[in-house]
Amino acid sequence: MERQTIAQRKGPPTIADGDRTAAEIVFDRATKTYPGQKRPAVNELSLTIGAGEICMLVGPSGGGKTTALKMINRLIDFEGGDITIDGQSVRGLDVTELRRGIGYVIQQIGLFPHMTVAANIGTVPRLMGWDKERIRARAHELIELVGLDPDVDGKRYPAQLSGGQRQRIGLARALAADPPVMLMDEPFGALDPITRDRLQQEFLALQARIRKTVVFVTHDIDEAIKMADRIAILREGGVLAQYDAPDRILAEPVDEFVAEFVGADRGLKRLSLRRLRDIEPIEAPAAKPGDNAQAARARVQRAGFATLVVTDDAGHPIGMLPVHRLAVERVPGEGLQPVEAVGTPDMPLRDALSLMLSQTGSHLVVVDEDGRLAGLVSADLISEALAAGARDAQGATANAVRDEAVEPAREPERTG
Ligand code: ADP
Ligand code: MG
Repeated sequence: MERQTIAQRKGPPTIADGDRTAAEIVFDRATKTYPGQKRPAVNELSLTIGAGEICMLVGPSGGGKTTALKMINRLIDFEGGDITIDGQSVRGLDVTELRRGIGYVIQQIGLFPHMTVAANIGTVPRLMGWDKERIRARAHELIELVGLDPDVDGKRYPAQLSGGQRQRIGLARALAADPPVMLMDEPFGALDPITRDRLQQEFLALQARIRKTVVFVTHDIDEAIKMADRIAILREGGVLAQYDAPDRILAEPVDEFVAEFVGADRGLKRLSLRRLRDIEPIEAPAAKPGDNAQAARARVQRAGFATLVVTDDAGHPIGMLPVHRLAVERVPGEGLQPVEAVGTPDMPLRDALSLMLSQTGSHLVVVDEDGRLAGLVSADLISEALAAGARDAQGATANAVRDEAVEPAREPERTG
């Protein structure tokens, strides 16, 4: 299927269909020097942002992030190199046409105070000459999409909204004409940490559905790691220091500047990028109440453990039993030790490790999506997976990585 370029786009499709497009953005030695400045603010920046990807532009203040972003929609004109969107130079496009294909979200969102939320969202569609009913329907679906109530919030004025709600409406307004490209400049920067975290999560969930090409500026490396498909780190003078997937940036910073920028805890940060579902757990010795206790004990000892995991008929873990409690005929269903902590598939490895450290045993009981016993995970297994991931980042084959990941260290449980 041929993708429309932003210049070719005519009537924007509705958000509800599968007709959304994203566009590839290419910076080719793009250079901007402000009048009266000796050094460029953005210096020979070359990078390719794949269609449908989130590129996080990070770096210290004054590193040229905002400048680079505004070069894309030509809020800032530049003298050197080029930027293309789906192969078309932004310089060659009519500025109005160009900006219609680009949603723009900034920190102090600049909603029109005298207009309702719905009217704010309808701004671009009105300029594009949509009829009233279509604009109304579009505002309605977008308000819903960003998690607000169309019937209640749509009639409100910006001053009647919280900061977080205003940012949501700013996002909805930017999405109104369904642009293939979204530019976001510290959009969540002024929010409290809890609201920011929620909006980050919601934006990621939204992006999984709408798949725009997103260029997102932040000075916050944690936000970058959380949101990015790829991270571009700019240093002073607008020079690109590294452009890579988050895990690669954390595992293999190219130089001291990047290493310092991502922080000394980059190993721990890598742990928050992966989830338990990314790890193949080792098999847990398990049995149900009423099962043959000797067979169960043999399984525990064969596996090199000291504890049996007891499950109900559906396979949900209900307790633990040390082997010495198995000198009976049948596995008991009562007097079980509680399962201290349980890891779920969506749990970041960082949280899993933290749980592991706060419990007595050396292995964490892990369940699947349905809460059924999936196996056990140890700190060794997690560090193996990280090491395998780093090798993967260096270009090892996926198979080699998988082989490493399923070859666990069968270290017996030390306590229990
Ligand atoms: P960042 O967004 O990474 O903080 P900016 O792109 O805002 O960085 O700024 C990059 C550099 O360009 C800084 O040194 C800044 O002072 C300078 N700069 C930004 N805007 C202008 C301007 N309008 N005129 C002159 N210099 C500017
Ligand atoms: Mg900036």
